Amino acid sequence: MKKTKIISMNPEHIDEKKLAEAAEVLKMGGLVAFPTETVYGLGANALDEKAVEKIFQAKGRPSDNPLIVHISEIEEIEPLVRNVSERARILMKAFWPGPLTLIFEKSERIPKRITAGLDTVAIRMPLHPIARKLIQLAQVPVAAPSANLSGRPSPTCPEHVIEDLQEKVDIIISGGNCSVGLESTVLDITEEIPMILRPGGITREQLEDVLGLVVYDAALKGDPQAVPKSPGMKYTHYSPRGEVQIVSGELEDMVETIRDLQKEKEALGLKVGILATDETKGRYQNAIVLSMGSRKNVASIAANLFSALRRFDQEGAEVIFAESIEEKSLGAAVMNRMLKAAGYHVIFAGGKKD
Ligand code: AMP
Ligand code: MG
Repeated sequence: MKKTKIISMNPEHIDEKKLAEAAEVLKMGGLVAFPTETVYGLGANALDEKAVEKIFQAKGRPSDNPLIVHISEIEEIEPLVRNVSERARILMKAFWPGPLTLIFEKSERIPKRITAGLDTVAIRMPLHPIARKLIQLAQVPVAAPSANLSGRPSPTCPEHVIEDLQEKVDIIISGGNCSVGLESTVLDITEEIPMILRPGGITREQLEDVLGLVVYDAALKGDPQAVPKSPGMKYTHYSPRGEVQIVSGELEDMVETIRDLQKEKEALGLKVGILATDETKGRYQNAIVLSMGSRKNVASIAANLFSALRRFDQEGAEVIFAESIEEKSLGAAVMNRMLKAAGYHVIFAGGKKD
C-alpha cells in the first residue's frame, strides 16, 4: 500500500509549483492521476516500461488492453510514430487539443507494453489545462488510461478516482469535474477508410465534415462473432454492481415497460434503480430514480452518465433499468457505454402496432 498525496487545483488558476511536483513524480516513474476534459486519467512516463507496468497493476487492467499516449504539443508526436500522414495533419489541426485519439504506426521508442504488442500506437493531445501543463512540465509523453479500477465506470470527478485508486497511486490531482464525461473517440487512420474503433467525445458527423466517409468498427454493435480492432472494447466495462438492462422504444412505451418491470422485480424483493431523463423522471415512484439529464441536451447526458452509474452502487440498486436515447451525434457514444454497462442486454418496449 502507498501513501497517496492529493493535490487540489483550480484549472483556471494553475499552481505551477504544485504541478511541478507531480510532473517530477511522473518523470521519475511514479503514477499520477489527473483531470482531462474526457475523464480522469492515470498517467505514467510512456517511455519508461516499468512505470507503464505499474498502471496495469494499479487498475487490474488486462495486459492485452493497450494504453493511449498523451502529448502536450503536436510536434511531440514526431519521435513516437513512423510517419504523420496528410490525413492525420488535417485531423490534428481540426480536433487537437480535444477528445480525439488517433491510431498511428508506432516508432521504436514506444515500449511494446503500452501497445500490448501491437505495431500501432494510440495518441491524443488533451484540451484540459491541467493535463496539458502537467505533460509539458514532465517533458515526457504520458501513457494514461482512465483512472478507475478495470471494469468500473470511468471517473468524471476526483471522488471517483479516490474511491478506486487511493493507496494505489502516488498523486491524485483533484481538479473538478470533467466537462465531456465520456472517453475520447478512437479513430484508426491506418485503414483506407478511417474507422471509429470507439465512439466518444468527437462525433462521426464532426469527423465526416473534415474527412468524408468514416465507418464504425462492425464489432461495436455487440456481435459476438466480430473481434473489435480496439482490444479494450471486448471487455465488460462501466458496470455498476447491479445488473443493468436497457429499455428501448418510443418514450411512452419505455416508461410503461420500465414501470411494469419495476413492479415485477420489487415483487421478488429486489431493489430497483431507474436511469431516467429530466423529461421522464417524474413518472417513476419508489425506485432509486436518477436522471442522466435532458433529452434536449445530450452533452449533459454524456457528462452525467458515469456518475449516475456509480450512484446506483452507493444506493444499493440490485437491478437497473435504463431508458435508451437517440443514437445520433454524441448519443452514439452514450449508447455505446450504456450497452457495454448492460452487457448488450436490451428489452424492446413493443407498444401497440396497428
Ligand atoms: P482507456 O484509456 O481506458 O480509455 O482505453 C483506451 C482504449 O484505446 C482501449 O479501448 C484500447 O483498446 C484503445 N487502444 C489503445 N491503443 C490502441 C491501438 N494501438 N489500436 C487500437 N485500439 C487501441
Ligand atoms: Mg478505461
